Amino acid sequence: MRHIFTVDVEDWYHGFPTEYSVSRPYVRRLESGMRFLLDSLDEAGVQATFFWLASEASLYPQLLRESLERGHEIGSHGLDHSPIFKMTPAEFSADTDQALSIISGITGNAVRCYRAPYFSINNNTFWALEILASFGITHDSSILPMHHWRTGMPGVRDHIQLISTPSGPIIEVPVTTRSFFGIRIPVSGGGYFRAYPYKFSSANIKLRTTIKRPAVFYIHPWELDPEHPNVNQHAVIDRMHYLGLGKAQNKLKRLLRDHSFGPLINIANESLSGPDRESRVFNEFETLPQYI
Ligand SMILES: [Zn+2]
Repeated sequence: MRHIFTVDVEDWYHGFPTEYSVSRPYVRRLESGMRFLLDSLDEAGVQATFFWLASEASLYPQLLRESLERGHEIGSHGLDHSPIFKMTPAEFSADTDQALSIISGITGNAVRCYRAPYFSINNNTFWALEILASFGITHDSSILPMHHWRTGMPGVRDHIQLISTPSGPIIEVPVTTRSFFGIRIPVSGGGYFRAYPYKFSSANIKLRTTIKRPAVFYIHPWELDPEHPNVNQHAVIDRMHYLGLGKAQNKLKRLLRDHSFGPLINIANESLSGPDRESRVFNEFETLPQYI
């Protein structure tokens, strides 16, 4: 069974919270991690979904075109990595409009899928899905279906589902979690992939194969670039950002050998016509009081 492989294309300094000031000027390192990723995916014969930050797309248009030419699906990761919960609906609409114009201006194709910075669609920003649908986004992967210190939406089920919005339907592809000793934990990639032993990450993907629901894996290019600058400004954030960086490249190669992956839209659509068909319409819009 194929699982969903996604990449949030941003530089190392976007991996810190926006309120956390990383020393400037930034050293740009995007190409380093992207080269490793593109070559590893080619080697494994995997087509993935690359959610490009539009500000990075402007800086690296050739790298964006290359990721498309090498067979990957191109989505948006927003304009400049601002979380949606710091924006009004009007600001988010302008952010999305600009991001999609930049990316489609470079690729020549309409953008159909989206992932919010910091998985920032939650109970307070659920209105964002309607705005995304109004811009022609058909697939969103911005919801972490659990409690989390920064974001998360524990009421959302952890599988692919069709959500009705006033602007039309949108397919939600939440990032993968797992219930472990009664607590829901993220098992979907990023810092968790770096922190957990490889066998645990691999077992979590095998579990999704058993229940016939694709896992949604994500990684950032900077997580595969152990040489990126080490800034020491905030102990906890530093530990999370740099945790397990040295082993991430080998773990990723192993993951690509041990499991089968593909791009988001295709696998989500397959899942909706199969195991997730029976529960496809999720009318959260009708029940959320925060939605205006
Ligand atoms: Zn991001």
